[in-house]
Amino acid sequence: MDLSIFDEWESEVRGYVRSFPVVFDTAHGSFLVDQDGTEYIDFFSGASALNYGHNNPNFKPALIDYLEKGGIIHGLDMATTAKAEFIGAFTELVLKPRGLRYKLQFTGPTGANATEAAMKLARLATGRTNVVAFTHGYHGLSLGSLAATAAQHYRHAGSVPLTNVTFAPYDGYYGAGIDTLALLAKQLDDPSSGLDLPAAFIVECIQGEGGVNAASGEWLRGLADLARRYSIPLIVDDIQAGVGRSGDFFSFEDSGITPDLVVLSKSLSGYGLPMSLVLINPDLDVWSPGAHTGTFRGNNLAFVGATAALKTYWADGAFPAEIKRKGELVRSRLAAIAEQHPGELDVRGRGMFFGLASLGDPSFGAKVSQEAFHHGVIIETAGARDEVVKFLPALTIDDETLLRGLDIVEAAVAAALATV
Ligand code: PLP
Repeated sequence: MDLSIFDEWESEVRGYVRSFPVVFDTAHGSFLVDQDGTEYIDFFSGASALNYGHNNPNFKPALIDYLEKGGIIHGLDMATTAKAEFIGAFTELVLKPRGLRYKLQFTGPTGANATEAAMKLARLATGRTNVVAFTHGYHGLSLGSLAATAAQHYRHAGSVPLTNVTFAPYDGYYGAGIDTLALLAKQLDDPSSGLDLPAAFIVECIQGEGGVNAASGEWLRGLADLARRYSIPLIVDDIQAGVGRSGDFFSFEDSGITPDLVVLSKSLSGYGLPMSLVLINPDLDVWSPGAHTGTFRGNNLAFVGATAALKTYWADGAFPAEIKRKGELVRSRLAAIAEQHPGELDVRGRGMFFGLASLGDPSFGAKVSQEAFHHGVIIETAGARDEVVKFLPALTIDDETLLRGLDIVEAAVAAALATV
């Protein structure tokens, strides 16, 4: 397939095209189709931006109707009917049934801009500077969010000192049985630990880029408890793990905690359109008008898609139950694969968000991804050394496609392990 126009004109920064070197043309549900008509099963889903699959037919008519009627597409942050409908659906279908009360901040469309806003607001509200982030965390690549992103590969590209963030060990970082929160609690309690009282904790309940590490409910409750004891706002970055990926709308629901700030993006708009949102405990909403602004905070087509997605999938408990059922299918299959290779593989994650990690071979992720791609499955890698294969099928995938994709990945795993 001819990729010369990309090689000649697109910056060296391009990434995924190197792993999946074909030219894609159309997409439907859990399938991507290249310009030769070859179909690929999508187990990557735009890094969880396509939880409802590609071009979901339940939302498409609403988007087409909106375009046909001449609905406002770009509205800065002015009031529009599309935004009002989204706010109505989000508060009625997501916040109120969960007993949550947040103010909504629409930020610039990237996840990075939203985590940036959440950290800025926590600093503004507390008058403190230091944010505690966690090992293997990923919060975006603009300088403020990059400072809270752990991976050296990205930090190096920042080219300036990344300041005002301290990293603490995530759940399980030192292995089973070591209570990483006890270390943090001790530091917070000790006036000479060198840890400045944080303006916020920022955490992913399931770390995506970091290797699909799922924090336990106990650990998350412990973190929320520390936050409360020291009046430290707790930010949950639900950009990758949110919007159903964990099995519930929010990844923190299972643990019973209520964060002070929640960051959503990726699948929020339903159709893959750019949209980000920060949920703010009203007591922390100390912004003055326009203090965190941006041109593209009113992507009204994204609001229309998001409203349709909420009404289609989140009006009752059927969808989350279905995600958990299919997630269990994936988990048990991965566990069976790991059992075939004792001591070599580890299965991580929950909901419909899983990782298969090699315990010894850092090239495992890339090998499996390449092998799977050659047999028609798009799947990506994660982890500190890319040693994890990350499973992010659409939450709407049918069982037959899911099982077919898993068969292909299972064969790719066997091939990758045979080459160690
Ligand atoms: N936070 C998390 C947990 C993410 O997974 C990502 C992206 O993968 C981001 C933040 C950054 O989002 P974006 O790439 O839209 O800036």
